[in-house]
Amino acid sequence: MDDHATRLTIDLSALKANWLTLDRLSGAAETGAVVKADAYGLGIETAVPALVKAGCRTFFVAHLSEAIRARAVAPDAAIYVLNGFAAGRMPDYVAYRLRPVLGSGGEIAAWRERPEDAEPAALHIDTAMNRLGLRLEAALELAGSMPLADLGIGLTMTHLASAEEPEAADTRAQIARFSALQAVIQAPDSPNRTIRASLCNSSGHFIPDLPFFQLTRPGYALYGGNPTPGRANPMQPVIRLDAPVIQILDVPAGEAVGYNGRWVAQRDSRIATVSCGYADGFPRNAGNGPEHSGGVAIVAGQECPFAGNVSMDLITIDVTDVPESSLRAGDFVTLIGDTLDIDRVGVAGRTIGYEILTNLGRRYRRLAIGA
Ligand SMILES: *Cc1c(COP(=O)(O)O)cnc(C)c1O
Repeated sequence: MDDHATRLTIDLSALKANWLTLDRLSGAAETGAVVKADAYGLGIETAVPALVKAGCRTFFVAHLSEAIRARAVAPDAAIYVLNGFAAGRMPDYVAYRLRPVLGSGGEIAAWRERPEDAEPAALHIDTAMNRLGLRLEAALELAGSMPLADLGIGLTMTHLASAEEPEAADTRAQIARFSALQAVIQAPDSPNRTIRASLCNSSGHFIPDLPFFQLTRPGYALYGGNPTPGRANPMQPVIRLDAPVIQILDVPAGEAVGYNGRWVAQRDSRIATVSCGYADGFPRNAGNGPEHSGGVAIVAGQECPFAGNVSMDLITIDVTDVPESSLRAGDFVTLIGDTLDIDRVGVAGRTIGYEILTNLGRRYRRLAIGA
């Protein structure tokens, strides 16, 4: 065998196509991109330049450190930092021309001390989640007491708690609350009428009649996740993960495979051991045992179930149904790709596709195609 490296392939033309699809859906509103968590595991330095090429001009990250990395590859973009503003880092916000997302009176007060050349911040308004942001009443009071621009604020935003359930009462209520706030802030006679607003994440792009306001914030769908769960995925797959077979073993009926013997061969079986495990971010919960039917791999064109627990660095796969001549050590099996999209892998691992992406391993050989 030439090489034991597990390959993560990132299709940048699919990433760009997904951004363009969302951009078309958002109509006159600007379409941003959320690249927090290292661009959902794909790598900021890989994903951001491709999104810039597609036309994206506004990025959202969670941490200041991510914003500084994004700035290095997107010199002209607007970059917002979602996870609040720490006053002690003011010099970095100014030097890198970053925009904090302010969510409390304390943060707003700290941002008032900004130098004149600081870029405009965003104001986060909590319309349901009780997680981050000013409460609606506090935001109304603030906007009524002085022009937000005087506070160094150029954007107001809120985040939908259940956007993938468009008919849910709480989604409708959040849209109504944020729209009512914008009716005041952006009223023709308001001193704040030029302050932009942003509501919609990936799934929001698919909610009928959702007001897009002036800027959208998709993340998951850019990377190929299904923003419309239960319906066909309108996005293109962006990643695939192929792992090499290190060894193929004959396991007689009655013998167990893997840690704690959770999978016992019901017939004379063949087991392929591949080089990928939970240390690579592949969910340990994707193991197959008596109480959970978990992960599968595509082996020589055929879906084959995992056999037993996922180990730290290895996965064992029941390849008994694959003709012996079609699989040899050194061949690659597909863990993500083709029929195994990230949403399905998430379900198999008793988690969600988002976590499959953000845990993508550091040991993979990463190959970006379609640049
Ligand atoms: C993560 C995040 C998004 C993107 O959500 P997706 O579901 O990945 O599209 C948008 N806005 C905020 C505030 C976020 O934290």
